[in-house]
Amino acid sequence: MTLSVLEPAAPAAEPVVTSRVSLVGRTRAGLGDALAEIGVPEKERRMRVGQLWNWIYHYGVRDFSAMTTIGKGLRAALGERFTLDLPEVTAEQVSTDGTRKWLIRMASTGPRDRGAEIECVYIPEVDRGTLCVSSQVGCTLTCTFCHTGTQRLVRNLTCEEIVAQLMVARDRLGDFPNRSKPDGAFVPNDGGRFVSNIVFMGMGEPLYNFDGVRDAIDVISDNEGLSLGRRRITVSTSGVVPQIGPLGHEMGTMLAISLHAVRDELRNELVPLNKKYPIAELLEACRTYPGVSNAKRITFEYVMLKGVNDSDADARELVRLLKGIPAKINLIPFNPWPGTKYECSDWDRIERFSEIVFRAGYASPVRTPRGRDILAACGQLKSETEKLSARARLLLDQDEAAAAAVAAE
Ligand code: SAH
Ligand code: SF4
Repeated sequence: MTLSVLEPAAPAAEPVVTSRVSLVGRTRAGLGDALAEIGVPEKERRMRVGQLWNWIYHYGVRDFSAMTTIGKGLRAALGERFTLDLPEVTAEQVSTDGTRKWLIRMASTGPRDRGAEIECVYIPEVDRGTLCVSSQVGCTLTCTFCHTGTQRLVRNLTCEEIVAQLMVARDRLGDFPNRSKPDGAFVPNDGGRFVSNIVFMGMGEPLYNFDGVRDAIDVISDNEGLSLGRRRITVSTSGVVPQIGPLGHEMGTMLAISLHAVRDELRNELVPLNKKYPIAELLEACRTYPGVSNAKRITFEYVMLKGVNDSDADARELVRLLKGIPAKINLIPFNPWPGTKYECSDWDRIERFSEIVFRAGYASPVRTPRGRDILAACGQLKSETEKLSARARLLLDQDEAAAAAVAAE
């Protein structure tokens, strides 16, 4: 069992007041604006943006002085006005199964803002390393089985803040050229990157933050930088129907739909957004999703809730509904959280459900819960900002570590 928790830093006597802003996470246009701000002539900017891009996203450098292809004068000018800081990691937990969870504090946006905290989870598997990122702080939707939906504090993350999650992960995993790897890190055996896939399945509804997510995907998938192909990026939505077509056209990523119920009456309860966009409309948007094909299937997520949505009849109806849509069905064992009224279906019920779906010709993998000991599994992400001080959190983490150590014995 390894579970490391960073000590919360001692409060500084005087907060360092800096007007310098970080360039990490910016689009090419955003870097161009930065160069304009410090007076770089327009005809030079495109070339300079290319250089900055390479240093920031390919090499992951943290200091302008490391940018050896850029002259000293310009490096100094950049350093006076900007930084290459990443948001602060306030806690890092490593699960017994290798899953890592980072609590990330975003830079403060003003004097009254302590900086929003979000969670980001890294899941190593045999053939891939998946990073689960957040698109919002909290979520305005209130799916009844989801912990994130109970959080009051909600705002969209900026493009920079979304990209920063991948930058933090690669930084912590030593996944940039010429970096040492942390102890016990998962090392891909094919020479690939540690983070090979991204899923927008953390906090928030990505299609309610369309522009931020679109810009972030442009940065992440740019093949001169972070280079994660759009086929390796999956955006999960609870069903914001009018934005599904634009997602396909403008972002071209893989699509996942959080379905969870096959009748409107039940889905209205589990995913209240269904009252606005019922199942038939949602599935029609899937049928016409740009680029959908057998090679580019839509993933349907289905959380297994005991006695609620897990009968044989539900499984058969699911298969009937999805007829004609190139689909994969992902059965997710419900991850309980304190105060929930739901329970996870029994294992033999999940197997039976999966069998019906499988016999109908669909791949129906049951998602193995990962990182349960660190509350990093689906739907358990919930920023601690509103309820715990750093001290209380540390104590809680120590309790969890102690409990896990006992369990491991
Ligand atoms: N808001 C988006 C993306 C984030 S949620 C969406 O709803 O699709 C990511 C996935 O986790 C969704 O399929 C969601 O339904 C699922 N999920 C939420 N709470 C869960 C829980 N407690 N147990 C298992 N899966 C859960
Ligand atoms: Fe929001 Fe998704 Fe949770 Fe629903 S399941 S409350 S849409 S994060």
